[in-house]
Amino acid sequence: MKDSLSFFGAARTVTGSRHLLQYGKSKVLIDCGLFQGSKAARDRNDDPFPFDPKELDAVVITHAHVDHIGLLPKLVKDGYRGPIYSTPATLGIARLTLPDSARLQEEDARHRRKRGELNAQPLYTEEDAYAALKKFKTLTYGERHDLPEGASWVYRRAGHILGSAMAEIALPDGDILLMSGDLGRYNAPIIQDPEEVDFCDYLTIESTYGNRDHEDENILDKLERILHDAWQTGSAVLVPSFAIGRTQELLYYFKKLQMAGRMNRIPIFIDSPMAISATQLYAQAKEEHDQDMLVSVEEGNSELEPEGVSFLRDREQSKSINFRQGPMVIISGSGMANGGRIVHHLLRRLSQEETIVLFTGYQAEGTLGRRLLEGEPEVSIMGQEVQVRARIEKLNALSAHADRNEMLKWLGNFKTPPRTTFLVHGEPDAQDALAEKIRAELGWQVAIPEFGDSYDL
Ligand SMILES: [Zn+2]
Repeated sequence: MKDSLSFFGAARTVTGSRHLLQYGKSKVLIDCGLFQGSKAARDRNDDPFPFDPKELDAVVITHAHVDHIGLLPKLVKDGYRGPIYSTPATLGIARLTLPDSARLQEEDARHRRKRGELNAQPLYTEEDAYAALKKFKTLTYGERHDLPEGASWVYRRAGHILGSAMAEIALPDGDILLMSGDLGRYNAPIIQDPEEVDFCDYLTIESTYGNRDHEDENILDKLERILHDAWQTGSAVLVPSFAIGRTQELLYYFKKLQMAGRMNRIPIFIDSPMAISATQLYAQAKEEHDQDMLVSVEEGNSELEPEGVSFLRDREQSKSINFRQGPMVIISGSGMANGGRIVHHLLRRLSQEETIVLFTGYQAEGTLGRRLLEGEPEVSIMGQEVQVRARIEKLNALSAHADRNEMLKWLGNFKTPPRTTFLVHGEPDAQDALAEKIRAELGWQVAIPEFGDSYDL
């Protein structure tokens, strides 16, 4: 049988990354993500795997976002027995995200049972999440590791979140396959930039921002302005934020503003147990830090602890700010406002004119974040209709994903074109536009797989 690469997720959409590599008698799965967003997408999580988990030889993980690892507990529950490879920092974050994802699944099943769906079962339990975590084996960047039948692979830095990596796989016939995972931005704070790669035979690359360039906005200026307005009007700034990456970058920028004397002493609440734990991981992972961060930490600065920050771990602490008045920043998950504690804060404060909602990343179709960003005057939150009177703001430059120009810059490092470049992890408009651009500017062969499409290598 010919070597092949099949796409069972993040195909013409941004979640559920799951790509199956087959060569000789071996099968390697790259990422095993949860489908998120619309109901149709989420329903895919309940479908049986489109391959037999028992027949997989290895799973290689690019990073610990749930849309890349969130189906691992189900994979292990359904019979996968082999190793799950990741970088050490990815394992650290997976220890936070997988049990959390399981708790959400269990909560969801309880809700469904209450609503009369008597047989509703969680997709997986916390126990399943811990069983999956036991299968992790870690590998640092640049360390080559064997796969069956003489194949091998190595991790390259992806610069997306702590621990994020591209997997560069050398097949037994010598062909090299590069799976980008999610590609980060150049010059983002704290962690190192995406590594330059100049050759592979087959490239699979994400395309989240394939049709857009992040505004060339100055993050510090914009944050300063919003915080200044909040100070003047006594506003609560609600920041739906991804717990991993985005929250730490915000803390880093608040600290920068404070050190430059550009920020009033506004209380900052990190209302997310996961973000708090992730912040500790970010502060400790020296091997991931970029030069600025290394130097600053060496000088004794706690870059991720601006003055006035409070970390709210338990629910009671979270509730204690419900009726708080005056200027403040509340950073809380989830980043697309489709779950988590931020939803409670939005429900309470969206109808107040002085509230400022600050989005800090991509808002997928079907999420509350997307509806707010598109300016809907009224939204439904936990069964209640809420008038949106708050001011909606967006900080595009904080995205953890490379934009179109950055992707083209990164692709520009290649000395010879890959035989085929597969675009994954993007909505159709973004993918079509990026494909067009790559064909026109680089003259490369580009394919955009649909769910279930398989390509001979
Ligand atoms: Zn990601």
